[in-house]
Amino acid sequence: MRAVTISCGVPDSLLLNEDWPEPAPEEGAILVEALAVGICGTDQEIIQGHYGEAPPGQDRLVIGHESLGRVLDDPTGTLQVGDLVAGVVRHPDPLPCPSCAVDEWDMCRNGRYTEHGIKGLPGFARDRWRVQPKFAVGLDPVLAPVGMLLEPTSVVAKAWDHIERIGARTEWKPQTVLVTGAGPIGLLAALLATQRGLNVHVLDRSTTGAKPDLVRALGATYHTVPVNELDFEPDVVVECTGAPTVVLDAMCKVGPTGIVCLTGVSSGGRTIDFDAGALNRSLVLENNVVFGSVNANRRHWDQAADALARAEQSWLNRLITRRVPMSDFTMAYQHTGDDIKVVLDFTS
Ligand SMILES: [Zn+2]
Repeated sequence: MRAVTISCGVPDSLLLNEDWPEPAPEEGAILVEALAVGICGTDQEIIQGHYGEAPPGQDRLVIGHESLGRVLDDPTGTLQVGDLVAGVVRHPDPLPCPSCAVDEWDMCRNGRYTEHGIKGLPGFARDRWRVQPKFAVGLDPVLAPVGMLLEPTSVVAKAWDHIERIGARTEWKPQTVLVTGAGPIGLLAALLATQRGLNVHVLDRSTTGAKPDLVRALGATYHTVPVNELDFEPDVVVECTGAPTVVLDAMCKVGPTGIVCLTGVSSGGRTIDFDAGALNRSLVLENNVVFGSVNANRRHWDQAADALARAEQSWLNRLITRRVPMSDFTMAYQHTGDDIKVVLDFTS
């Protein structure tokens, strides 16, 4: 069968293997036929050799962690043949740490977790894969064209879950949310904000392309000015750029009892002048919280599946700006400026 693989740590070693072995039974009882994988910045970093770890004893890693497939066989009866399914990316560490011990592998404390297509587990960019029932998330049939958005949606479902848990420290009725960055994570964070009935603002540098219209189609407001020039103080900020200036401006801009959730990973190595004392004063005097959020556990995957099923399906379709057939697979991994989400299609 076909599999998209890389040699870990070797830049530009991306290959389509035509006779990759069938998934091993140990990978899980549920056998799945791949429909598509979504591609994100992590895939690009793995291809560039900055990231990625093959399973023990192997030298190539199957990439792909944003999965969508159809069940071919499930002897456990968890799912039915033909059901849409996505695989949870992260598996708990073997020790396990206190978080992994209660299936909160997104909060793993020792870093020994594994991740499909990223760290020690084969990815989903292959014709067939297997998954254990615990890591198999069934999807509403209506999501067949867009179900590969479940993984990035799980990340924002976790962010919102933790925002609300932090908000529950006190009487808290948020009204306004600012999302910085209108990539897939930012747009999906905005979608989940509108589903919560919040007044949603999205800020991005793009003045053209699909982003402004996608934001307005949610009933949200689109901004291209710097964060510090906005004329309101949001109750919640979901930061999705990782750009140092945007991150710091967001922490300063959030209103009293505000919550800032950081989801963007900065590359580091860039320094900017910043008044740390003023930030401290504002966080203390306004009871503000700034926290980081990454990955998702099974609860968040289920919340994400529910959120996608309730969303306007035509809007979700517009997030996918290119669908690349397997015959052109390298094109899927070449980023263009206007892309929001690129998908590699296993059915064509
Ligand atoms: Zn752990």
